[in-house]
Amino acid sequence: MNRKDFLVSIVIPVYNEEQALPKLFPRLLPVIEKYNYELIFVNDGSKDSSDAIIKNIAKSNKRVKLISFQRNFGHQIALSCGYDFAKGDCVITLDADLQDPPEVIDKMIAKWQEGFEIVYGQRLDRQTDSFFKRTTADFFYKFMNYLSDVKIPQHVADFRLLDKKVVEFLRGLKERSRFLRGLVVWPGFKSAIVSYRREKRSAGKTHYSLRKMLSFAFEGIISFSTRPLQLATYLGFISAFLGFIGIIYAVIGKFVFSHYWVTGWTALFVSIMFMGGVQLIAIGIIGEYVGKIYKEVQERPLYLVKEKVNLD
Ligand code: UDP
Ligand code: MG
Repeated sequence: MNRKDFLVSIVIPVYNEEQALPKLFPRLLPVIEKYNYELIFVNDGSKDSSDAIIKNIAKSNKRVKLISFQRNFGHQIALSCGYDFAKGDCVITLDADLQDPPEVIDKMIAKWQEGFEIVYGQRLDRQTDSFFKRTTADFFYKFMNYLSDVKIPQHVADFRLLDKKVVEFLRGLKERSRFLRGLVVWPGFKSAIVSYRREKRSAGKTHYSLRKMLSFAFEGIISFSTRPLQLATYLGFISAFLGFIGIIYAVIGKFVFSHYWVTGWTALFVSIMFMGGVQLIAIGIIGEYVGKIYKEVQERPLYLVKEKVNLD
């Protein structure tokens, strides 16, 4: 197929990236100008001048489109919105901070033309991420794949190409929780991997604090597995079993070795703490799922659009 025969949508979520955006255009445009493209920026409630920078480019280039959110809704929601508006035969998502090198787009499109419906960008090494982020991320994906039926490829983030078919599947989803890394794997489309070296952030700081990373990880696990609920049951069995042994021990101690028996405050305290802990963990796990159900039944919109540029 000729390069201009199909439309490529590039979706870029943007949250306070005024320092990164001016560096993005000179590297991205030469790559995508070979194709018939549209460049969709989703401004996720930026408080800086990101909005103005994009609008300025959109004025002279009608292929550059902008959707601005009413407030910050989060990275995954911004990506979902991009998928809602993208008209391309394939849609590529990448970060605004040049951590995903735009040159890889050519390789992704080549794979797509071979017939793959999803092309994941896989990080060759994670030297640019901190040791902490690397190890926790590694652990998370192993744990996640152990817990759920959906197997997320390792070292894959949100830099990927999706065929129109996959995008339509995502658009049709009614669920509010958007753990896209799992959702794209779920239907079982034909996928390929393209590896790349993840670069350092071109400017500015990461928006993923430890708290955000943790809640992202929880979101992933809760949306794709109910195994933690089983875990709560197992914990209950284990603690009940330990309690039972304790009872037998106490009875024997009382009646058989009554001479040596001293009332054990420590044992009492430890068992109360243990039981209390187990119960709270179990309630917490159930609570996470109840919270998720609550959010789903509220049926609030996924995001609110404030303004659109070069889009109808
Ligand atoms: N982002 C967003 N909304 C947010 C946080 C981040 O749209 O609430 C965007 C951000 O502008 C960037 C991408 O998502 O283009 C990835 O964010 P970041 O680089 O902070 O994450 P990291 O690469 O450190 O995981
Ligand atoms: Mg980044």
